[in-house]
Order: sequence, then C-alpha cells, then structure tokens
Amino acid sequence: MPIETLEDFRDPEKCRRLVIKIGSALLVDSAGQVRVEWLRTIVNEVVTAQERGQEVVVVSSGAIAIGAKQLGFTHGGRRTLAEAQASASVGQISLASTWSQLLTERRMVAAQLLLTLDDFEHRRRYLNISATLRRLLKSGVVPVVNENDTISTGEIRFGDNDRLAARVAQACDADGVILLTDVDGLYDRHPDDPEANRLEEVRGVTDEIHAMADGGSGSGLGSGGMTAKLLAAEIAERAGIALAIMDGQHEMPMARALAGQTGTLFLPLREDSGRRAWIGGRMRFNGALTVDDGCVEALENGKSVLAAGIIKVEGEFERGDILPVYDESRRMIAKGVVEYDWSDVVAIQGRSSEEHEDILGHTPRAAVIHRDHLVLL
Ligand code: GLU
Repeated sequence: MPIETLEDFRDPEKCRRLVIKIGSALLVDSAGQVRVEWLRTIVNEVVTAQERGQEVVVVSSGAIAIGAKQLGFTHGGRRTLAEAQASASVGQISLASTWSQLLTERRMVAAQLLLTLDDFEHRRRYLNISATLRRLLKSGVVPVVNENDTISTGEIRFGDNDRLAARVAQACDADGVILLTDVDGLYDRHPDDPEANRLEEVRGVTDEIHAMADGGSGSGLGSGGMTAKLLAAEIAERAGIALAIMDGQHEMPMARALAGQTGTLFLPLREDSGRRAWIGGRMRFNGALTVDDGCVEALENGKSVLAAGIIKVEGEFERGDILPVYDESRRMIAKGVVEYDWSDVVAIQGRSSEEHEDILGHTPRAAVIHRDHLVLL
C-alpha cells in the first residue's frame, strides 16, 4: 500500500524504507559548526524508525559549509568551484565522523557513500549503488550519503542533495523521502508574503506548482532551494515514491511535523518498473529529439517515436543512449533509448518508414525509440 498521508511515513507497512535528507542550513550553524545536539535528536528519530521496523538512509549535506569554516573561506565556501571542492574534502571528514559518532552512541553502524550524478546515469554503476544500499540496510546499517563534491563539477554535478536523495530512494527502492529544510513546505507564493498558503498535498508537479518555487534558499548555506526540491519530487512521483518537505529547524523535527501535520506531501503518481524508473530519472544526455504534434499524440497513445515525426536532432549520440524527447514548444515529454547513432537519425528524420532501407543501406529498426524503451513524463 502506498503512502497517502504524512502520518504514513512512520507506518512500516506503508513506508518500509525511508530516505531522510538534511540540508546544510540545518546541520551547520551560522558559525560553521555542526549542530551536534540537534543532530542527536535526528539520530534519535532514526533509531525510533528502526525500532518501528523501518529502514533508514540518510542523505546529509553540510560538507562544504563545515570545510569552509575550517579553511577560513568566505561565502560558505561557495565563492569559487575550487574553494567549494577543497571545503567539501575537508568538511566531509567531520561530517562523516559526527554521524558515525552519534550513531555509535546509539549502538548503530554508519556507512559513508559519496556518489556523483554520473554514478546514477550509468546503469551498471546504478545497480551497484542499489546492491550496496540494500546489503547495508539488510545488516541494519545506516547509510549516510553525500555527493562526492570534490570530483563532481559542471554538468556532471547534482549540485543539490534534494535530487540526489530522490535518486538514492529510487536506487534502494524506498517508499518515502523526507526533505528536512528551513521552511515547513511549499507555499503558493513567497512564504514571507502574509497571503501565502502552504500546500498540504501535491498530486503531480505541474507548471503551476513549479511557478510557486522561487529558486532561492533562505539561508545561503545550501544550494537546493525549492526549485531543486520540486525536481526531486518529480523524480520520486514517477518512481512510486512519496516525498515530503518538512521543517527541520526544531528538535525531533519529523515527530513534530507529523504531530502537527505540517509539511507538504507529494504523492506518488505511478510506479514505473525498476528500469523504466531509472530511464525516467536520467538527467544528463548526449543529445535530444524534437517531434511534431502528430508524434506527441501517438506517444500519448502508447506508440513509438518514428523518424517521420522527428523535426529536430541534436547532439552526437550513439545507439543505446538515452535521449529526451521534446515537443514543438520545447517541453520535455519523454525519455527513451535511441535505436540509431545520431547520423542515421539525421538521415531518416522526417522520412517515412518505406524510405529508410534505401537511405540507410541496411534493414531499418522498428522505431527510433521503441515504446518498450520509452518513458512518458
Ligand atoms: N553536497 C553539499 C555539501 O555537502 C550540499 C549540497 C546541497 O546544498 O544540497 O555541502
């Protein structure tokens, strides 16, 4: 049974496996020190969840903020990429040892996983992450995950731990993700506006919902903001995972948010199979296809992407790559595995299937992206 209410996050029947993400602004005070007493209350909540029969994975930010303090860098260590990377490599040691120490106090074992966006984009590496997480959880260990900031740069970077948390949840087949942050949910306008109302439940992150996010993190310590949280919610909702944004500023924040019913719950929309969920969650592409309205309609009716409907081909991708499919208004409508190298797609784009054999010089494939390898968004 899927999660339907915030309360369900503590029901081991509905939420057997839970990912909890903790933002930098909560973990680290304005002087760059870890808020150990507060963190102890989080560990307490992790222990309580385990006692209820739930398995917990922690996604912990804070490495950059902690390291910046130790190195004496300004701007929370985010002034330049090199300073952020140096800060992360220093801060991660303190961060991991704090988690390990606090979990050990409660007779639990911590594991550290430092992952990059690329690790999730390659199917085999993704399956390795998945297997490791499952094995750790089976042994009662609490995996503590962060992005490997020291080697993640530019477009190969998550940059925020919100999407990382959603991808981790997908990889370990979690039922729920809780994003603890410095606001108590998604508001329909800036939370400082007296007219602002918190949304209790979101069923599908639409354009209207995206428009509510202002993209800024209040504290300046983290990098996610509401925009990243909504992108994380989109990954989760397609993978059948419920996601909640909760205020983490107080002690025992999850128990508090659940008792007061404060937070925003993003309900799962559908449950793609493991491989389809992985395709739907992919973020980095070697190219893209744009298709005409007729093709969009065909895809919505469960058909494949045929060359005749393609109006634009971008990038030098190879057969087997995963590509996004855009409609004419540049909206991403699907992702799928392409059956040809880019040059072949360029050659047959806009041409009917009967012409393909002559153009290509070999027997054509059934489609450019076959519906079995296509995920609608
Ligand atoms: N990975 C970053 C860190 O540990 C945090 C990213 C984020 O702000 O979400 O400092």
